[in-house]
Amino acid sequence: MVCPYGRLQSVLLDEHSIVVSYDFVRGEPRTKGSKGTDDRKGGDCIDCLQCVKVCPTGIDIRNGTQLECINCTACIDACNHIMTRLKRPKGLIRYASYNGILSGARKILTPRVIGYTVILAGLIGLLTGMVVARGDIEVTILRVPGSLYQEQPDRTISNMYTFTIVNKTANDYHIEFKTEDPVGKITMVDRNAALPGGGLLKGSIFIELPQDQLDPLKTAVEIGVYSNNRLLDMVHTTFLGPAE
Ligand code: SF4
Ligand code: SF4
Repeated sequence: MVCPYGRLQSVLLDEHSIVVSYDFVRGEPRTKGSKGTDDRKGGDCIDCLQCVKVCPTGIDIRNGTQLECINCTACIDACNHIMTRLKRPKGLIRYASYNGILSGARKILTPRVIGYTVILAGLIGLLTGMVVARGDIEVTILRVPGSLYQEQPDRTISNMYTFTIVNKTANDYHIEFKTEDPVGKITMVDRNAALPGGGLLKGSIFIELPQDQLDPLKTAVEIGVYSNNRLLDMVHTTFLGPAE
């Protein structure tokens, strides 16, 4: 019920779309009862209903393109078999567009096809860019909600944060945090810094910064996340301090 495939198909299709189609120009009018003969007064369809009998969704493709068609092509095979027995050309049901059947010409490159190709190429480029730019880890650092700053005796200010690190690789890391700008000190509350391959590390840290390096109230802070002195990610957060 929620599958968007059928709905998308009906939006994307137009009279140039190549789908499983019945050639009504060649097939009509149907010549029921001419099975096994070479009666050329009518169309090539002998109304044997083989295409309907083999259809897994029970539709009659001779009524036109329908939402229920899953393009299994069973009707193409069934009709080709009948045409072969009648010694008539195959392809009464085949991959074709409505306009192609009407005009007898096969046109593949339409403005819509070119447009969809450009959009698809753009999406593939975007996906490729995202895969190439994907980092080894994903880090979230948030100040503990409702907490204020603490003034330390050595004229530094500290804030408490929680962090979550997701490891997107199979490598094990030993995580270290460093304040890059402004330079200060970071202390992990629970000393567990082991991040296993494909695993998750959660914990809390204190950031301490010299009071004379802080802006009033809020300061932007850059935190480097390292493993064995290799920078894995850079995270931006804010740091609370005194108003003056
Ligand atoms: S199988 Fe071919 S000939 Fe028979 S009813 Fe279908 S379209 Fe007509
Ligand atoms: S392609 Fe398959 S689903 Fe579609 S009309 Fe033919 S037999 Fe039915």
